[in-house]
Amino acid sequence: MGQKNQVFDNVLDLVGNTPLIKLRKVVKNLKGNYYAKVEAFNPGHSSKDRIALHIIEQAEKKGILKPGDTIIETTSGNTGFSIAMVSIIKGYECILAVSSKSSPDKIDMLKSMGAKVYVCPAHVSADDPRSYYEVAKRLHQEIKGSVYINQYFNELNINAHYASTGPEIWQQTEGKITHLVACSGTGGTISGTARYLKEQNPNIKVLGVDAYGSVLKKFHETKEFDENEIYPYRIEGLGKNLIPGATDFDVIDEFVKVTDQESAHTAREISKTEGIFVGYTSGAAMQAVKQLNEDEKFNEDDLIVVMFPDHGSRYMSKIYSDKWMNEQGFFDSENIEEAVGVQY
Ligand code: PMP
Repeated sequence: MGQKNQVFDNVLDLVGNTPLIKLRKVVKNLKGNYYAKVEAFNPGHSSKDRIALHIIEQAEKKGILKPGDTIIETTSGNTGFSIAMVSIIKGYECILAVSSKSSPDKIDMLKSMGAKVYVCPAHVSADDPRSYYEVAKRLHQEIKGSVYINQYFNELNINAHYASTGPEIWQQTEGKITHLVACSGTGGTISGTARYLKEQNPNIKVLGVDAYGSVLKKFHETKEFDENEIYPYRIEGLGKNLIPGATDFDVIDEFVKVTDQESAHTAREISKTEGIFVGYTSGAAMQAVKQLNEDEKFNEDDLIVVMFPDHGSRYMSKIYSDKWMNEQGFFDSENIEEAVGVQY
């Protein structure tokens, strides 16, 4: 990409154009050729930089935002961090309404990037005036000229990936991609990327990754919203308990569900074998690839692109903590060797 010797005006010039890196060891016994799209190379260390920048720049183009205005969102995760980063450079106030379930580390991280964080009680219903959804809505109404990003229901989330991630993968694989494997949370990444890729070649297969405890896979198959599918799970950023407006189910061929435990171990395996320090959902995507192999979904000549959405440093107190893994019961007889080092 020739970016390494360049000098940049500010960090936002580094959003997108992430590398595609060939996977070798973690795919050793699998059929096909695998490449990871490593989104941790974005300056905010995740794919969410793309949507934060795109949505804010679209609002600027429409004249909705001017310097000093306020941007509001309800997330303590990657999107919050990316919006805070874009806001610093562009001179906006950033307000994030987050749940009291968010870890103190995450809240401190957002504050470090200049965001004003409202911590709202977790144990109230979504329509309670104290919930983070309602607080965000109220602030949006009260603050003149504010923009509410609303990533789960914002079509621009899809457009961001249609305009950048899709074309990048098409060029990087010289049009040879046969399969895309991507986690679905808001659905923006998989929908926008798939929409672009299928326009280039309708034969490309798009495989979505969902969590046990989420409604997406069943909804895709039956068009039915089944509340019985919903129960707590640990992977953050993947799956959902509602149907996001930012998901285009028509461009996704199939969903695969993965477990918390296997995804955590696979993320650790990627870091240890490939030297790419990845987040929890990268492990989930790779776990889905393993399951798809068991189902004989790939051939030797296939070129499979797997999205790795964020960086491992955000999970030091979770999947990269042996103590946490042990507390979850994730070290069982199958991976007892890894547990040997646990001295807590
Ligand atoms: N992985 C992580 C770590 C995320 O934060 C998200 C976003 N919720 C995703 C995957 C899924 O991306 P998308 O929202 O574009 O479906």
